[in-house]
Amino acid sequence: MTTNQDLYETARDLMPGGVNSPVRAFGSVGGVPVSMVGGEGAYLTDAEGQQYVDLVGSWGPALLGHKHPAVIEAVHRAVDTGLGFGTSHPAEAKLAQLVRQRVPGAQMIRMVSTGTEATMTAIRLARGATGKNIVVKFAGCYHGHSDGLLAAAGSGVATLGLPGSAGVTAAQASETIVIEYNDRSALEQVFAEHGENIAAVITEATPANMGVVPPQEGFNAFIREITTRHGALMIFDEVMTGFRITEAGYWGASGRVEGWEPDIFTFGKVIGGGLPTAALAGRREIMEHLAPTGPVYHAGTLSGNPVAMAAGIATLENADAAVYQHIDEKSQVVADALSAALTDAGVDHTLQKVGSLFSVAFGTSQTGVHNYAEAQAQESFRYGPFFHSMLEQGVYLPPSVFEAWFLSAAHDDAAIGRILEALPAAAHAAAQA
Ligand code: PMP
Repeated sequence: MTTNQDLYETARDLMPGGVNSPVRAFGSVGGVPVSMVGGEGAYLTDAEGQQYVDLVGSWGPALLGHKHPAVIEAVHRAVDTGLGFGTSHPAEAKLAQLVRQRVPGAQMIRMVSTGTEATMTAIRLARGATGKNIVVKFAGCYHGHSDGLLAAAGSGVATLGLPGSAGVTAAQASETIVIEYNDRSALEQVFAEHGENIAAVITEATPANMGVVPPQEGFNAFIREITTRHGALMIFDEVMTGFRITEAGYWGASGRVEGWEPDIFTFGKVIGGGLPTAALAGRREIMEHLAPTGPVYHAGTLSGNPVAMAAGIATLENADAAVYQHIDEKSQVVADALSAALTDAGVDHTLQKVGSLFSVAFGTSQTGVHNYAEAQAQESFRYGPFFHSMLEQGVYLPPSVFEAWFLSAAHDDAAIGRILEALPAAAHAAAQA
């Protein structure tokens, strides 16, 4: 039998770190990364035939669970007609319509292939539409790996403890101003000093790449207000939250505050149903700055690929209210049990949660976690032993304390039961770290 270890050795020789995306490496938790060879519903199977309850969900897309019959069937039907033609295709408008029905502020949509491309293009669009240069981002928010957005980024950049990335020029970095999340006075100060030159503030609707960090009451609305006052755009990155977090009517996180909308949204993950699709969207007069109607260039050989569109359409068509209710309820059960197990084992922590997205931050109960500085100050060394105990007991968690846990519609009572059974031993492992 080919073991995970064998596969890792081969992969490490061929690919940096043995992976094609750093978040998949077990850099911060240690050990040999697991090679998965199949997924069904709430479960993954590795190369050695071990089965795991999956709490990564392909990092977000698997809202309905793995291999959902309707999604697989739609993909098969699309494949049978060809893999893509480099032309317009009816499925593009169909997916765009499904997005706009649920997010009315997404008046026009441009499909792209990854979340990185969506945010990168959104930034270029904001600069092109306003004629201004500076972008403001929050420390610990991750918006993909385009040059200007890597400063003090979350996700793998946080896991590896990097300040940013080598290969990004000082000139590129200088046009991104980074401030702490949830800090209104920092935002006011930035606008007081640079207001005339700020093209956009980009924020995760609810940050979930430094662990989950909820926006304080009114923080998103404050970003809306101050950007409007200074003629800057607000870019709401819903790559992670879009069509997953359901507060207050919208099917993204944007509906958490009534009565306002961002200028530009970015989506990804769920809207591709597991295949490479993402999008930027927003008001018509802004979106029409994009080529070919406007001067801001964006293009993509695979943008709007019909097979990816089919997966996205089938996913959104099947993501009804019952799906969200199920995921919300089960997430609450797992989050409560996680917190209880840690408390029983005497592990100081805060449970960070918005809607169905949650994570744990160790040793932070005194301060809470409201920003990146507080997230980084946690006792992250407790996560490795916790993670490996869960893995040994057949539960696959994100291999970093800075990532959120993802449930799906396929997480039934049996799958949830396996997670709950595993938690006490893992909490003990965290206590002894
Ligand atoms: N924005 C956010 C909020 C994300 O969580 C991610 C990916 N985790 C991205 C952008 C980048 O998406 P992709 O990995 O598809 O490039």
